[in-house]
Amino acid sequence: MSMQLFGLPVSRGVAIGRAVLVASSRLDVAHYFISSEHVRDEVDRLHQARDAVAAELTALQRDLPADAPPELSALLDVHLMLLHDEALSGAARTWIVERHYNAEWALSAQLEVLARQFDEMDDDYLRERKADLEQVVERMLRAMSRDPAALAQVGYAPALGPRDFAGEDPLVLVASDVAPADMMSFKRSVFTGFITDVGGRTSHTAIVARSMDIPAVVGAREASRLIRSDDWIIIDGDAGVVIVDPSPIVLEEYRFRQRQSELERARLNRLRDTPSLTLDGQPVELLANIEQPGDAVAALEAGATGVGLFRSEFLFMGRAGDLPDEEEQFEAYRSAVIAMKGFPVTIRTVDIGADKSLERLSAQELRHEHVLNPALGLRAIRWSLSEPGMFRQQLRAILRASAFGRVRILFPMVAHLSEVRLIHDALKRARQQLDDAGHACSHVEVGAMIEVPAAALGITHFLPHFDFVSIGTNDLIQYTLAIDRADDAVAHLYDPWHPAVIGLIAGVIASAAAHGKAVSVCGEMAGDPAFTELLLAMGLRSFSMHPVQVPAIKQRIVRADTRRLSGALTRVLQAGDPMQEAARAFAA
Ligand code: PEP
Ligand code: MG
Repeated sequence: MSMQLFGLPVSRGVAIGRAVLVASSRLDVAHYFISSEHVRDEVDRLHQARDAVAAELTALQRDLPADAPPELSALLDVHLMLLHDEALSGAARTWIVERHYNAEWALSAQLEVLARQFDEMDDDYLRERKADLEQVVERMLRAMSRDPAALAQVGYAPALGPRDFAGEDPLVLVASDVAPADMMSFKRSVFTGFITDVGGRTSHTAIVARSMDIPAVVGAREASRLIRSDDWIIIDGDAGVVIVDPSPIVLEEYRFRQRQSELERARLNRLRDTPSLTLDGQPVELLANIEQPGDAVAALEAGATGVGLFRSEFLFMGRAGDLPDEEEQFEAYRSAVIAMKGFPVTIRTVDIGADKSLERLSAQELRHEHVLNPALGLRAIRWSLSEPGMFRQQLRAILRASAFGRVRILFPMVAHLSEVRLIHDALKRARQQLDDAGHACSHVEVGAMIEVPAAALGITHFLPHFDFVSIGTNDLIQYTLAIDRADDAVAHLYDPWHPAVIGLIAGVIASAAAHGKAVSVCGEMAGDPAFTELLLAMGLRSFSMHPVQVPAIKQRIVRADTRRLSGALTRVLQAGDPMQEAARAFAA
């Protein structure tokens, strides 16, 4: 039966495909596709885990003390029976063979299928066996995580093209939540769309989905419970609507819209080589936000003239305790710098914490299992300053990459002048160490992200210490409005048009201009055409965004007259409803 679900639109366009459910396990389960030649090994891993757990359970049963309650032995019998049931390992094997899931994913996907069947049982006793099944699966996942070959693969499986596995239909991913690290491993994978139950518009999972340029809806609440594996799904990423099992007429309508948006995209892409100049001749810099060095190719293809934000933390996430050392980081930064062919590359030091955990945890899991309020905790520069050894390694790696092109370094979430002093001390020490070791480095501009209201309000105190600033609107909105950006329950209050937010952004841009310092916006507002005129009116001339957003923003820029826009700015800044006022004041 057809049904509609509603969530938040986070990445535009229409996707049509069959649902793939990704379970959120209590264990740290990696989801990735394996290549054809690894299918047999992966099935072996599944079977070895099953056999190891069988041996474990049998030994437990054998060693039960004589006075142990008889129910215990019966329970172990049930676990052994579930373990050997074809509906578990047999079906998980099919996910590996047919869909090329890694063994952990296959097992947790099958757990999801079986758990639903248990939920629907009338018999109380049978329904309660779901908990036993979960325990058995958890044991198997644990057994697999002890396998060093598996650990070595986590997060590094080569991403496969859409036809590298047996399935022929396009696939859309449905999950309760996806950790940003898992989202990265889906980059360039087979999915043509994403749906999650939780998350906000600027959660990092949503940001990665947007950078993949495929339609996505987050905060769709019950989606992963109501949608079943292999259901046909339409994702309307413009409206935030998910249609399950659509009728042929609806399907045809959406296929038409899909073709229209492809045509529109092709039309926009023709702007690639058009200079980024306003009608009145103002040059506007269009930079790219990237998560890994390989994204530099997409940045250049889109016509970006540099990287305004390299989120270096994505090199650190989901690495199971094996964080990249100086050499590995240096190689990554150097390859991004070389790939950008002389254009500047702004490398942000790790912004770990909040919804980006080092472990493979989603925002939900983090909030509930780890830190009370991760967004206000040890994240970004606070984390780096609390790990001086790691911080220095990263600084050295970035400075060394400057010998290969134009490098700028950016520090996230700066809020205190004491942090500024520590940053400069650490930079000085790192430079000295490199000098002593005979490493060549070039001049590196140093910048701060302005994303905490304290830094925006106190901007005049921070500007003298930096060559440039970059406004992180995602966090600035979160902290100004006290809205967790990853929490769908308050997503309706996450309002970039709030007068307080608009006022802070305008103030930072004006102060930077007055101090002769370069200023950029690298939050999601920079890539959203709804804000282009407003930011131009404020005097912004440098925008950093996902490469896929560059053409649409360039189109707004080449049609804008900054003299007319800046004349209307005061009215917008003084309005109680800046969005409404901007629509009136900036209308051509
Ligand atoms: C921001 O906060 O706007 C930003 C660009 O950084 P991130 O989204 O990675 O927190
Ligand atoms: Mg931020």
